[in-house]
Amino acid sequence: RNVAAMEIDEKPETTYDDIGGLDPQITEVKETVELPIKNPEIFKEIGIDPPKGILLYGPPGTGKTLLAKAVANETNATFIKIVASEFVNKYLGEGSRIVRDVFELAKEKSPAIIFIDEIDAIGTKRVGSSEGADREVQRTLMQLLAELDGFESRGDVGIVAATNRPDILDEALLRPGRFDRAIAVPNPVKESRQKILEIHTAKMKIDEDIDFDEISEVTEGLSGADLKAVCTEAGMFAIRAERKQVIAKDFLDAIDKIMSDIKIS
Ligand code: ATP
Repeated sequence: RNVAAMEIDEKPETTYDDIGGLDPQITEVKETVELPIKNPEIFKEIGIDPPKGILLYGPPGTGKTLLAKAVANETNATFIKIVASEFVNKYLGEGSRIVRDVFELAKEKSPAIIFIDEIDAIGTKRVGSSEGADREVQRTLMQLLAELDGFESRGDVGIVAATNRPDILDEALLRPGRFDRAIAVPNPVKESRQKILEIHTAKMKIDEDIDFDEISEVTEGLSGADLKAVCTEAGMFAIRAERKQVIAKDFLDAIDKIMSDIKIS
């Protein structure tokens, strides 16, 4: 088995409390992934199959991985992550094998959550060409579809996929019995940004005068990952100034830095 291609975490520590501003998304993930693992009999009684896979879509750094890890934590499941874009570059030729191994491993370690990041790398709409690398990618997608179809949705293995590009996904992936639930994970609005900042400053020594209402106001457009970077950078400014506490100016300088970094990249 190519375990180097997988990130395996037997006991992820992320919880729902570590996620800021995604309450409706958390509710939906609880219903579609957590409940089938925790109480499969509820679905049996009513006589429906629980959803097999869910698709989280939205810009980078908004908390998709956090959501998948938190469900794994809540269900005492092993978290197994693969990054589909690596099948196109790093592990070209091994994709379908790795996909098969991941499903096998998940069954062995169940309960388990399989997280497939950047699924668009293997799941884009067919473009026609069937040469070399493209054919490899096709084979990997076929293997994934076969695994999904052959998989009994008994609930003890949850499958979560993530993408920044839902628009280019092959519809075959979104058919019933595959990734038939799509949950949007957008960039945070102001109140969400404030919650995310609270989470990432919880363990920091910060001046009590800092106005997080204002900071969340001026960080429009930043993702959760960017806001975390702002907090870290603010801490760096305080360290450089040899202060024992992070002050408002450190945050404002950090915001300037992160925002100009984003503009450059
Ligand atoms: P990508 O699409 O780039 O893989 P993602 O949506 O999976 O991104 P995460 O890996 O979940 O993003 O987020 C990266 C980091 O940013 C997290 O580890 C966390 O520190 C921070 N972060 C992102 N979103 C949130 C959020 N909603 N609440 C708290 N922290 C967040």
